[in-house]
Amino acid sequence: MAQSCPYNRISCGDKMPHVVTEACVNHKYQDCVAVCPVDAFRELPTYLVIDPDECIDCGACINECPVEAIYEESDLPSHLSDWIEKNAEECLDAELADGNSPVLAES
Ligand code: SF4
Repeated sequence: MAQSCPYNRISCGDKMPHVVTEACVNHKYQDCVAVCPVDAFRELPTYLVIDPDECIDCGACINECPVEAIYEESDLPSHLSDWIEKNAEECLDAELADGNSPVLAES
């Protein structure tokens, strides 16, 4: 049975969206955007987020991230749990990431 969604997402249910976390901040590598089959990434000035309603949970982006910033929601370390809501809320007003932005800083 589907769980109720704490963020009132339309598509929550059994989905386990992927989440960008703080390791992305001030790097904004574009490798994840390039492999996403559904354009789920959204772009903010210093980091990316994933739109949980677009993510189809394919997992392709996880290993592409050079700074290991992306987790499946169920694998998210507890100290990063705020990033679930951050992705869900901040994606709403953010531009679609097209993968062409410069990397802000190499790690
Ligand atoms: S898990 Fe798949 S669909 Fe979701 S953001 Fe990553 S690449 Fe895109």
